Amino acid sequence: MCGIAGIVALENISDKLVKSIQNLEYRGYDSCGIAILNGNSKVQVRKNTGFVAAVAEREGFGEVTGNIGIAHTRWATHGKVTKENAHPHPSCDGAFCVVHNGIISNYTKLRLKLKKLGHIFKSETDTEVITHLVEHHYKKSVEKAFVSALKELEGTYAITLISP
Ligand code: GLU
Repeated sequence: MCGIAGIVALENISDKLVKSIQNLEYRGYDSCGIAILNGNSKVQVRKNTGFVAAVAEREGFGEVTGNIGIAHTRWATHGKVTKENAHPHPSCDGAFCVVHNGIISNYTKLRLKLKKLGHIFKSETDTEVITHLVEHHYKKSVEKAFVSALKELEGTYAITLISP
């Protein structure tokens, strides 16, 4: 069972994000990752397979600074245990990033539709359809795009999304 976290603060949160997913380690997992915003137009993502402390050290989680972020520990259901399949999953343009707990049961249909629309998938996960769906629906409001995306999803899920 995976774990998800999200933090909004006034100060740098990379250490707090790592601590938050370490607190969820007892649930069991195979991969972990973080995404942080620091005022740039793109979300900064670091992730890989393995234990939180080891991955955080190897991938330099502490070097990524910012005050808004999400984190994830993955228990793979769709796609192998690989760096590419670890969460967070960014959109094509890097403007949206998602972590997800659960299963999107209609992901095959959504993936096909989004691929036909030109979206490039980097993972084998069901999760990645969420981030591309939000990107697809986005016009001016992230909230509206997220709600529109949610209406298309079937399955069981808890999702955290960030966008600059
Ligand atoms: N279904 C997603 C995946 O395989 C999320 C699994 C989880 O809840 O950790 O990546």
